[in-house]
Amino acid sequence: MVTKSASRFAPSPTGRLHLGHAYSALRAHDLAKAGEGRFLLRIEDIDQTRCRPENVDGIYEDLRWLGLNWDRDVVFQSDRHSAYVAALDRIVAQGLAYRCWCTRAEVAANIDAPQGNAQPVYPGTCKGRRDAGDGRPFSWRLDVAEAVRRAGDLTWTDVDAGKIEATPERLGDVVIARKDAPAAYHLAVVVDDDWQGVTDVVRGRDLFDSTHIHRLIQHILDIRPPAYHHHKLIMDATGTRLAKRKQAPTLAAMRADGVDPEALVAGLRAGVLPDGFCFSD
Ligand code: GLU
Repeated sequence: MVTKSASRFAPSPTGRLHLGHAYSALRAHDLAKAGEGRFLLRIEDIDQTRCRPENVDGIYEDLRWLGLNWDRDVVFQSDRHSAYVAALDRIVAQGLAYRCWCTRAEVAANIDAPQGNAQPVYPGTCKGRRDAGDGRPFSWRLDVAEAVRRAGDLTWTDVDAGKIEATPERLGDVVIARKDAPAAYHLAVVVDDDWQGVTDVVRGRDLFDSTHIHRLIQHILDIRPPAYHHHKLIMDATGTRLAKRKQAPTLAAMRADGVDPEALVAGLRAGVLPDGFCFSD
């Protein structure tokens, strides 16, 4: 049997969608449909402190406004905790994760930001700690150096850039389970893409570095890696990348302003952005 392709759009309901999301969803949708595959929708709502149910309704509304229909039931990460617990247990049982009691402020104060490295790296403060942290809540961090040592050379495929050698060290010992949830983004995304049968991960270039970590987690969990497509990002007139926290103009606002969704989608497909926006690079 030939495996049908499947792509997904995986927004976090921490705010309303903007043009960058529309572009990402459209790329994922069109890629799946070109191969008669499935376009899946996953709501990444692990961080319950920041996710809001009204934003989930907003995501449905915005996708429908763009004319993008998804296949199968929507998957909510908040329903998937037992799968994350099982995956985390496997990683911990292999001695590849350690507890971390650091607060955000402590991490920020101790962070290493090596030259030329886009992301600050956690310096391993809690690695090797044997105490119980006075019963305070803890997160789990991946012991990247040990995991890489055992895994040996790993590669993954970026459809545009080709075969990439995995260098997960660039992100350091990332959190794989939050203090308040049995997973964090890096673990949940790998477990869910596999469980949903995603063959093609389509997402922005801002997540390119994360893919190195995802490849390592896939290896630890015996998961076959999908193909990756990291598309250009959209910026506003000031050259700032669109982001919810930076109050990027939302699709809801565009709709209220009378923007024609068919023209917008046709433009995005042709790589033409509305006035006031441009692509990165
Ligand atoms: N949930 C992530 C976001 O909203 C996307 C995750 C992914 O595509 O891997 O940025």
